[in-house]
Amino acid sequence: MPMRFVNRYQCPRCAKEWTDVWDAMCDDDCPHCGFRHITPLRSEDVEGSEEDDQLLARKR
Ligand SMILES: [Zn+2]
Repeated sequence: MPMRFVNRYQCPRCAKEWTDVWDAMCDDDCPHCGFRHITPLRSEDVEGSEEDDQLLARKR
């Protein structure tokens, strides 16, 4: 089972928060203002589940 991470981000420019599920810890771009390369505030590794698969499938 591949490792999954729920990454929580907060944008330093517009202060919006969001979470994203990836198969690695990685930087993300702000979906609100487009600020780039934001490092996750925190990352939780999660067991693979159908719900996560659907989240990932929607992204790709
Ligand atoms: Zn932003």
